[in-house]
Amino acid sequence: MNNLLALNWKMNKTPTEAKAWAEEVRSGLHQSYADVAVLAPAINLPTLAAELPQSVAFGAQDISEHESGAYTGEISGAMLKDVGARYAIVGHSERREYHGETDANVAAKAAQAQASGLTPIVCVGEGLDVREQGEHVAHTLAQLRGSLEGVGADVVVAYEPVWAIGTGKTATAEDAEEMAAAIREALHSFYADQAGSIRILYGGSVKPENIAEICGKPNVNGALVGGASLKAADVLAMNEAL
Ligand code: PGA
Repeated sequence: MNNLLALNWKMNKTPTEAKAWAEEVRSGLHQSYADVAVLAPAINLPTLAAELPQSVAFGAQDISEHESGAYTGEISGAMLKDVGARYAIVGHSERREYHGETDANVAAKAAQAQASGLTPIVCVGEGLDVREQGEHVAHTLAQLRGSLEGVGADVVVAYEPVWAIGTGKTATAEDAEEMAAAIREALHSFYADQAGSIRILYGGSVKPENIAEICGKPNVNGALVGGASLKAADVLAMNEAL
């Protein structure tokens, strides 16, 4: 299975900046070694639709759990699909922490993404205290179970240990593989034979220097990259490393 290089811009880049980034990627991307997807603030999606090369997919960082209606400020799956989005991140730890999203919210958002024809990228992962207690696998699998309740197999799972996000502290490739293998086994119990084709990403301080080792592990099928996604040159280097 091809690696997925998923780029989480978070709350960065105006449409003007997004256009410049896309132009740089377009002129520098001679070959796609990985499937690349840009997860951008929704206001940038029409720009990305116009400016990205065909081989690069794009999507949103969140999605409403509702189909449409009186939900001020929310963006629906149908709106995202209409501009050409392929993916939506759901349950990023920043949304769980700052917006109080629960596993049930995350599962509802993932199901709504699928109902709209988008592939949800469902994020799970433990905080430092949980890791220090040695409870990281049990914690992450419980989160996974709750976040995939009622969700079909057209899904990407991103394991992002919260202590490794934006901190420069990367989990070792062995830590990433330990969790990815545990997630794979759990996916087999949810999705039977389809589990083998579900991508499991690692996220947390991934950069050009460490992406190859992490994504070289058998159960890791790509990366969700925050900080290092902002410079087009780093993205091109990560693509080439895969
Ligand atoms: P980071 O963020 O690469 O900056 O650690 C990853 C993420 O939060 O998706």
